[in-house]
Amino acid sequence: MKGKLIVFEGTDGSGKSTQFRLLCDLLQTAGNSFHRLVFPQYQEPSSALLKMYLNGEFGSRPSDVNPYAASSFYAVDRYASWKKVWQPLYESGTLILSDRYTTSNAVHQGGKLPPADQPAFFDWLFDFEYRKLGLPQPDLVIYLDMPTEQATRLLRTREAATHTRGDIHEVDDAYLALCRRTALRAADHYGWQKVSCADAAGAVRSIQDIHREIWDIVTKQLSLPTQTH
Ligand code: ADP
Repeated sequence: MKGKLIVFEGTDGSGKSTQFRLLCDLLQTAGNSFHRLVFPQYQEPSSALLKMYLNGEFGSRPSDVNPYAASSFYAVDRYASWKKVWQPLYESGTLILSDRYTTSNAVHQGGKLPPADQPAFFDWLFDFEYRKLGLPQPDLVIYLDMPTEQATRLLRTREAATHTRGDIHEVDDAYLALCRRTALRAADHYGWQKVSCADAAGAVRSIQDIHREIWDIVTKQLSLPTQTH
């Protein structure tokens, strides 16, 4: 009996990690068992190529590496974790929650191609990872849609607070804007569940407000009681 796979997706600074953590905490408190994954696996040797790419060793701009090549770097990292860690869990029915997945290749690499070529890229990605490599297809993708201006502000605040500087994706505002446009197309193409992180006036919604919406989506998907919230 195969398990279920729920994926969190969004552009950098959309609040993915924050919402992912809150959902995991609440699911745990409610007594549900699951396995948590975070991609990329920066601590694992399987991330070597994508780290070289993000560090700018193949070029200082994201566009210096074509989307098919860059996507393969991330795909092998997922394959390694599938084989080493979660294949037996998933195949015996465990619920898997993942912060990023194949979906990130659509968001971060698709925009390197003109819009007319993106649907073919999205289909290639789907075929490559889910059919050829044999990675499981998500049952639910929650896409956090944060306007680029607000996402950039949150990213820069996080960088200042942690005294870190982002990778070649995160420091490039034009690239981040391109990723959001691509993400919206990918969300329509694949049928992701979109959660708007800003209200109609463009103000960022509170973390708890977004969390409640996500909890409702997940409890419906898993047929869980909702009273824990
Ligand atoms: P991501 O994982 O998508 O890059 P994070 O979850 O790390 O994003 O969020 C980026 C920063 O913005 C963090 O410092 C986080 O605390 C903050 N943040 C996330 N969501 C919100 C929100 N809705 N309102 C205000 N700050 C937020």
